[in-house]
Parts: sequence; C-alpha cells; structure tokens
Amino acid sequence: MRADTAGAGTLILCAALAAAIAGCGREAQTVNRQHLAFGTLVELSIYTDDTDRAERAAERLRARLDDWHNRWHPWEGDGLAAVNRRLATGQPAAVEPELADMLRRAQALHAETDGHFDPALGGLVRLWGFHHDESPPSQPPAEPDIERWLAERPEMTDLHISEGRVTASGDRLQLDLGGFAKGYALDRAIAMLREDDIGNAIVNAGGDLRVIGRHGERAWRVGIRDPRGNGVFAAVEATDGDAVFTSGDYERFFHWQGRRYHHILDPRTGRPARGLRSVTVITDNAARADAAATALFVAGRQWPRLAREMDLTRVMAVTDDGDVELTGTMSERVQFIGEPPPRVETLTWQ
Ligand code: ADP
Ligand code: MG
Repeated sequence: MRADTAGAGTLILCAALAAAIAGCGREAQTVNRQHLAFGTLVELSIYTDDTDRAERAAERLRARLDDWHNRWHPWEGDGLAAVNRRLATGQPAAVEPELADMLRRAQALHAETDGHFDPALGGLVRLWGFHHDESPPSQPPAEPDIERWLAERPEMTDLHISEGRVTASGDRLQLDLGGFAKGYALDRAIAMLREDDIGNAIVNAGGDLRVIGRHGERAWRVGIRDPRGNGVFAAVEATDGDAVFTSGDYERFFHWQGRRYHHILDPRTGRPARGLRSVTVITDNAARADAAATALFVAGRQWPRLAREMDLTRVMAVTDDGDVELTGTMSERVQFIGEPPPRVETLTWQ
C-alpha cells in the first residue's frame, strides 16, 4: 500500500516537474563521439540523462571542428593558408574577424611567453619538414638553411593587424598556429556546449582537453601519456573549466644518426627544443594552456622560471632523464600509475 502511494507520488512529481528536471527517472550515462580534426582524434564525452540533447550538441560541434581545421591550417585551404600565401609576396593579406582575433591572441601569448611560443616560425617548421600532417621528415635540413632562417628571422612583432587585414615587414613571415589552434578550438567547443546547456562534458583532442562539470559523483580524470611508452604514466583530476594540455617530443619526430628530432622548435636556435620529454599545464583557458605547454617545452630545464613569470601554478614536466618535476599545486592533482618515475621533485616556489 505504502509503496504504491509512493510510486504514484513519484509519477506525479515527474510529470509536474518534467520541464524543469530533464529526463526525470532516466539514468545518467556517458555519450561518446569521435571525430578526426586537427590531425588527431577529437573525442567528446557528455555525461547526461538527456541523450537527445547530447547527440544534437555533438553533431553541431562536429561540423564546426571541420570548419576550424580548414580555416586555421597554415598550408592548405583559404583561411590562414591564404594569408601565408599572400604574406610570402610581401603584400597585405585580408583576414576574417575570427582569424584576426586569433592572431591578436597569438601575438599576446608570444609576448607573455617571452617569445618561447612563436607562431612566426612557419617558415622554420616548413624547412624542417614538420608541416605535413601525415609523414615526418627523415633528416634535418642543411645547416646553412637553418643559419639563413636565423639571420633573417621573422618576428611576431613585425605583424600588424588592423581592420580586416594583416601586414608584415618583408616577405619572410609565415604563420603557424599549430601550437595553440587546438586550444583556441577547445575553448570555442566548450562555449558551444555550454550554450547547448551541456553541464558535464569533456572534449579531448589527442590528450589535450578541457572539461565542463563532473562525471557524476567524481571529477573527470584524465591520463597523461608516458613520453617513452605507449600507455599513460599519470592521471590528473580536472575540475569544471580546466584545460589540460601537454606538449611532448613524441608527437612528431624522426631519428637520424642516433638522435631524436621532434616538431617543437626553439626559435632561438632554429632546432628542436632540448631538455624535456613533455610538459603538462592545467589552467582555466585552453588557448593559453596550449601556448604555455609549447612555450615551457621550448624553455627546457628553465621551465620553472617561465612558469612563475606567467603565473602558472599547475605544471608537470618529464625531463630528458625521465625525472618528473612538478609544482606543489599540480602534485595535489596527480596520481602516478604503474612503475613510479625514477625521481619526482616537487617545486616549492609557490
Ligand atoms: P601538439 O600539436 O603536438 O599538441 P604543440 O601544441 O606543442 O604540440 O604544437 C606543436 C606545433 O606548433 C608544431 O607542430 C608546430 O606547427 C608549431 N610549433 C613548433 N614550435 C613552436 C614554437 N616554438 N612556438 C609556437 N609554435 C610552434
Ligand atoms: Mg601547444
């Protein structure tokens, strides 16, 4: 008797509040969708009891990812690639407002990272042959070519952005937003999901990600790839709005004469950055996290100084020796998985 009454009551409550409580009585579940963009697999997970809404949001996002990829690719298409083609002729290039906004952000991040994040090195990336999405190069460029690039090095500060157009001094500047476009896209993706009333989600682009809300009772937990293995060596907890970005020497590389050459270049030397295997940054903005991870990787063993200058509190680096260095605030979020790293040093400067 009592059970029946309670059941009826629940039904009435459900009907009355159906509009307010989406999916009353439905079980929350994780809706997963995958899509290839930015040369990697983008995985969207939405934790929800309204799968229809999640499907619609995923579909809307998928179309935008393709569009962004085409517009921001430095060498193919009519967006950034057209800007590069035009700059190579020494002429001003027309830019859409969105791309102009990205370039302004990129310029600000170049300044904030003390030049370690340098999107003006498109020509150098091409010289090294790391501009192909598919195949890595097989050997380094000729020394004189690197020296020439360094001697004529185009600067991000040479780029002038004004209403609808960009101008560079000379014809050497080629823009490559590969170090932060994924982050910029993830910020846009998270904003779109929020517009679609998605309260709990994670967008993961090949290990770089940003989250909304939680996964039920617990925070989202994500794996950090072991730079010298196939699996993950740590898990970190990401709370609402967090972006977790890693730059490493294992994404695109080749071996030549016993040495590893990878795709993150130090604009000061014209060569792959040295000192670290990977850097992971957690902060509340994906574009900044992306550029910061690239910049700290370029800073190498000097990363703590740049992190402090940039006010980044959650950073973890794997050094060339396989040691782990991390900030105190990061260590609260990290759990090592499997065999522990040979040495873990928690930095206490904040
Ligand atoms: P991933 O794209 O593998 O996640 P990053 O975010 O560090 O790694 O971006 C690396 C890409 O950024 C390179 O492939 C290249 O296109 C570009 N790049 C390389 N060196 C730099 C640098 N010093 N500053 C800005 N962009 C860079
Ligand atoms: Mg980056």
